[in-house]
Order: sequence, then structure tokens, then C-alpha cells
Amino acid sequence: MKLSKYILLGSIISLLIIIGCKKQSSFEEKRDDVLSELNLAIENAEEQGKYKCCIEPACTMCYLGHWLWKDGSCYCDDMIKEGKMDKVCPECKKGIEEGLCSSTEPCDLESGENFRAIDE
Ligand SMILES: [Zn+2]
Ligand SMILES: [Zn+2]
Repeated sequence: MKLSKYILLGSIISLLIIIGCKKQSSFEEKRDDVLSELNLAIENAEEQGKYKCCIEPACTMCYLGHWLWKDGSCYCDDMIKEGKMDKVCPECKKGIEEGLCSSTEPCDLESGENFRAIDE
């Protein structure tokens, strides 16, 4: 399993970071630590099948509950498959614009009802 290797590697790295920065850690180190923890949590949710994000790397705002799903899940990819682009989170829309789409369906922002491409 490629993913579990990454998770193992990630936990070792975050453990080292925690040990290394136990005393005085700068803001950047703290932030990196938090972000790597967050990414690990998202990878876990992906493995459980409740984080179906449409971009690679996955969005974080859905996990944090800043969008439609409040239990640390993301179903942007399902929304794209159903053509409900207005339910795809802003972070993913931005990612799609940057060409990060990893959905099996084409990420077509134009099909959304409430969304117009910014640079049009
Ligand atoms: Zn997504
Ligand atoms: Zn999202």
C-alpha cells in the first residue's frame, strides 16, 4: 500500500518535528506541524472513503468544516459527477482553475449555476 507508507513516513516526520521543536518553535515550524497533522487526518478520511475531494492535493477547508459538510468529510468529487458545481467548495474551485483537478469527470466550472469564471 503506497498510501499507508506515506502515512507512516508522515507520522515519523511529524514525531521528529514535535521532538525537535518542543521548546522554542517558530511560527513557521508550528504551522508546518499543524499542516502536516491536518494532511495526515485528511489522508485518513480519504482512506475511510469520506473525503472525496476533486483536487490533488486535497482541499483543507471541507475538513475544517468551512463548507457544506461538517463532519470532516468532502464530497466535491460527487458534486462534480452530479453536475452540482455550486456545491464544490471555493478552495477546490480555485484548485480546478489552477489545473489541479483529479476528478474522473472533467472539472467544468462553467456548468455551475452560481459560478462564473473570474478571468472571463
Ligand atoms: Zn474537492
Ligand atoms: Zn473541499
